[in-house]
Amino acid sequence: MADLEERALAAIQAEREGVLQSELWKILSIDSRKCSRVVKKLVDEGRIERIEHKGDGIKTYRLRAKEQALRPDLILAGGEIIPCIACDQECVVEECHLLVDWIYQLAIDEAQK
Ligand code: SF4
Repeated sequence: MADLEERALAAIQAEREGVLQSELWKILSIDSRKCSRVVKKLVDEGRIERIEHKGDGIKTYRLRAKEQALRPDLILAGGEIIPCIACDQECVVEECHLLVDWIYQLAIDEAQK
């Protein structure tokens, strides 16, 4: 069940606007009753919110993650974490060669995608 909860949470987090509960059970290839139990557990744990949604005459719920999944790719460039995270230098952003080098590497990574 824990693995199913994580898969459900990942599916919900993958969409900025969340996922309709009526779609989630199809995404997870499970039946709607099992999906309801998974959703209830995630709501009870405070990991998602459930908002009433009406569309095409059908009442369902929009499920939204309360916190987004960590995206390590947003703080990595060339395998290096953005230098500001562990920085103990006097910060003058406009003059920081560490940050400029990291942004340069980020641009290279983006060009190689
Ligand atoms: S910009 Fe440079 S000096 Fe400022 S926190 Fe980041 S790495 Fe440190």
